[in-house]
Amino acid sequence: MSARVIDGKAIAAAVRERVRGEVAEHVAAGAPVPTLATVIVGDDPASEIYVANKHRACEEAGMGSIHHGPAASTSEAELLELVADLGADDGVDGILVQLPVPDQISPDAIVAAIDPAKDVDGLTPLNAGLLAHGTPGLVPCTPAGVFEILRHEGVELEGAEAVVVGRSKLVGVPVARLLLGANATVTICHSRTRDLAATCARADVLVAAVGVPGLLGAEAIKPGAVVIDVGTNRTEDGLRGDVDFEAATEVAWAITPVPGGVGPMTIAMLLVNTLQAARARSGSPA
Ligand code: NAP
Repeated sequence: MSARVIDGKAIAAAVRERVRGEVAEHVAAGAPVPTLATVIVGDDPASEIYVANKHRACEEAGMGSIHHGPAASTSEAELLELVADLGADDGVDGILVQLPVPDQISPDAIVAAIDPAKDVDGLTPLNAGLLAHGTPGLVPCTPAGVFEILRHEGVELEGAEAVVVGRSKLVGVPVARLLLGANATVTICHSRTRDLAATCARADVLVAAVGVPGLLGAEAIKPGAVVIDVGTNRTEDGLRGDVDFEAATEVAWAITPVPGGVGPMTIAMLLVNTLQAARARSGSPA
């Protein structure tokens, strides 16, 4: 068997096109242009590439974007003040502080200071709590992207065995919560899980969000499973996922490639979140 390779780029393009249309309608109805504010502290080249891509995506969707680039020596108090100013700025709908931040700044303190109504990364304690309560507000972009792929592919989640490998606040835990909300039976694995492969091999839906290239091989895949590989690992052979793609395609029913699977969904869902925040702030229906 050779698995269907899920085209994340095409799904992301469709989401971005849908958002573009909805932004046009939102603005035509008299609402302000949805606007994203990004912040990078210092000059990390990788962060600059990620953020430049986000600004380009905003422009293509008909959204506004502004950028702040305080120096690497910025104190936590100064960054907190900037985040508070963006929270108070009526022209800003979404706030994204690109992580990591320099050592003198606590990322948790910065994230907690973001106005939850503008928290387009979905990482504030309020939005994480809403997701945990099963009444999601703004959902983290990569987990939302995983869910959008499953929805697009028509994967039946009700009653399905879902295994998520990874328990980070950014990916693993919110993905698991979304799957639970869709009535899957969810297991979360992590570095202390005993017999990882056997646990994964129970999964109708397997989501890998680990950061170890090729960790999950054929023995970890149930025949006919849907495999979503969030892992994005730079190796000598280029970008690799957490799943051994060649081996997994022999067993799975469908699988996301790396690159070209989950990766493109993250920016698409950032646009979705920015529009959602703008709609909520302007009082228009979601
Ligand atoms: P993270 O915060 O480092 O979390 C990794 C998780 O994997 C932890 O829960 C860890 O367990 C678990 N883990 C590590 N080694 C393991 C092993 N050998 N067996 C089982 N579990 C193991 O990473 P993250 O931020 O969630 O990101 C995970 C991956 O997704 C990375 O490759 C990252 O680059 C990628 N990612 C991609 C996107 C995107 O496509 N746009 C976005 C975000 C992240 P413990 O909790 O026990 O330590």
